[in-house]
Amino acid sequence: MAAEIIDGRAIAAAIRSEVKAQVDELVRDHGVRPGLGVILVGDNPASRSYVTMKEKACAEAGIYSEEVHLPADASQEAVISAIGAYAANASIHAILVQLPLPDHIDEHAVLLSVPPAKDADGFHPFLVGELWSQGTADFIPCTPYGVLELLKRSDVPLVGARAVVIGRSNIVGKPVASLLLREHCTVTLCHSRTRDLPGVAREADILVVAIGRPKMVDASYIKPGATVIDVGISRAEDGSLVGDVDFESASQVAGKITPVPKGVGPMTIAMLLQNTVNAAARAAS
Ligand code: NAD
Repeated sequence: MAAEIIDGRAIAAAIRSEVKAQVDELVRDHGVRPGLGVILVGDNPASRSYVTMKEKACAEAGIYSEEVHLPADASQEAVISAIGAYAANASIHAILVQLPLPDHIDEHAVLLSVPPAKDADGFHPFLVGELWSQGTADFIPCTPYGVLELLKRSDVPLVGARAVVIGRSNIVGKPVASLLLREHCTVTLCHSRTRDLPGVAREADILVVAIGRPKMVDASYIKPGATVIDVGISRAEDGSLVGDVDFESASQVAGKITPVPKGVGPMTIAMLLQNTVNAAARAAS
């Protein structure tokens, strides 16, 4: 039987309208308009397009946003100084540094300079530590936060579920594992050196895939009825977007599955807006 499709675009739209209502309330009751400060370095077309999409989404939700666009040869000090200016600006509640940064800039040093109290992406080690140790943090990385919302809003049972996450990156795999652990899943975190990956994946009630290898995960990785969340986004030769999961075969075995596009992708921006509004609400209280 074909799996139920988890419609990320519809769920993201619902979150964006909730965010807009929260913005209206903050403005009306507290005189606070949430503000996002974006830093873009260089002219990478994909980064430019992501930043434009984020700024447009902010405008639609009533969130104030502004951008510092630095040239590709900007120094690390210039980037850190732009972050410092946003950190000192009371109308900016959340700061986003669009990645990747040019090679001559130490990304880790830059991310360390974003104050945890304004770190829209939740990448600062302090926030990472908070998430693992306290189960929550003021900012939760946007894509993992989106994965969790997709599961919750699709009524996927989490408590006691066996969850397998494939991919251990700091921006997706590890924080997804942390969030699922917080929700009382039994979590296995897999990576490129995992033995018998299909066998481990087949134990999962919830399978989250974030590896960046188009269509690698086919039906042989999936327990019948499992929920499959495909975080992967790659460009196929014909220019179309393709996930890490072979949707055609996987959807014959899974119980619920996200498509690519219109699955996890739209959630990332929705959760960025949510993080920004949450920060403004903290500032207002
Ligand atoms: P990454 O390259 O940092 O990490 C990939 C992980 O996959 C690594 O931990 C590696 O061990 C694992 N891996 C690689 N090959 C493997 C294999 N053959 N078997 C098992 N594990 C393997 O990637 P990332 O930044 O976590 O991104 C992963 C994918 O998610 C990419 O396609 C990326 O474009 C996508 N992504 C999507 C969004 C979104 O908004 N939807 C956000 C971030 C990343």
